[in-house]
Amino acid sequence: MEALTGATLIDVVTGRPLSDAVILVRDGHIVAVGAADAVPVPRGADVSDLRGRWIVPGFIDAHTHLQPWGLGVALRYGVTAVRDLHEGTTLADTLRAVAARAPAPRLFLAVAMLDGLPTTYPDAWPVLSPDSADAAVGRLVERGAAWVKVYTRITPDVLEAIVNAARVRQLPVAAHLGLTDAITAADLGVTSVEHLSGVPEAAGDSTMLFAAHAQGFFPGWTAFERSWSTLDTAALAVVARELAARRVFLVPTLVLHETLSRLDDSSIYHSADLRRVPDSARRDWNVAGMIKRAGWTRADFAAFRAARPSQDFVLRTFVASGGRVAAGTDASNQLLVPGASLHTEMELLVRAGLSSLTALRAATSWAADLLRADSLGRLRPGAAADLVVLGADPLADIRNTRQVVRVMLGGKWVGP
Ligand SMILES: [Zn+2]
Repeated sequence: MEALTGATLIDVVTGRPLSDAVILVRDGHIVAVGAADAVPVPRGADVSDLRGRWIVPGFIDAHTHLQPWGLGVALRYGVTAVRDLHEGTTLADTLRAVAARAPAPRLFLAVAMLDGLPTTYPDAWPVLSPDSADAAVGRLVERGAAWVKVYTRITPDVLEAIVNAARVRQLPVAAHLGLTDAITAADLGVTSVEHLSGVPEAAGDSTMLFAAHAQGFFPGWTAFERSWSTLDTAALAVVARELAARRVFLVPTLVLHETLSRLDDSSIYHSADLRRVPDSARRDWNVAGMIKRAGWTRADFAAFRAARPSQDFVLRTFVASGGRVAAGTDASNQLLVPGASLHTEMELLVRAGLSSLTALRAATSWAADLLRADSLGRLRPGAAADLVVLGADPLADIRNTRQVVRVMLGGKWVGP
């Protein structure tokens, strides 16, 4: 039996801090949580005195593409679970093997994304017609996928068949939309919409945007980001409210939007977090090569920055209308450091107008809701003992989530 004593526990569900809390842990799970006078510490328990600290549930990154090196890095930043939305069959096996050997975040894998032709990534699986959706989803299940990820070239008729095939197998569907707008996707029953994709397509004239998505990933992304600042606030508010009413999760990955909008800003190439990234991974990033492939200019980056207030507005409206957001990052794609980028995401959620508590929920309880992982994201009896000890109060300032003092995963201290 392990006893954690003296810290202030943040209950992310009620938002209430519980000072001088006791958490009892046995066999990887929490067995009791409460105030010191209500939960006695059993004799012989291994006591960790955490006076002057704060405790929150382990963080969940709801949108990653990790390489093996990223698992340990994410954990040091307090990330104890990730939803990895496409890694390809070989990398999926490797990630599982690495996670079996050393402490790593819990893995919820999509294995291979489903896309139209030509697929954006060579290891994605093409689904060309509704008839072939069921077989593709069946193969994902055989490969141990916990999620179905659909990509930008999936059309509404194929998406409908994929969602139905996934539903039969109890699999949720994550959508990075291109040729389908977000309201249509929500109506068809996708579980989460990634990157706020499909929102401009639902709020304005989608003809030009669909044509850009059909050309390829970068033309699609560029036109999508450029469109935000041209849309009416009223139209965006309607879409945000309609999405909230349909109970779809948004995984906005603001840190991805923000990072791609600042590629002409030299300061983002010098953040201290980048020291955690191996040289080989930095070379693979080849940011200059990506900018060249995308054909992005200073005018594009300025337009991407101009999109950010509209994206924040959609998020605020969505949450105010009862919608749930999960924090995700797209790490370890270019400049997005596993774990570190999730703290930036929480900070950006607060900058978008959400409360610190809401940002914490997005990275804990709401992300667990998205994963349908009842044992994660909340510190209560029966839950997995995944938690983070912080050196400062995250409700006072969300940037304090970065002050990770200790990380517990499945009842074991694993870092940092
Ligand atoms: Zn992604």
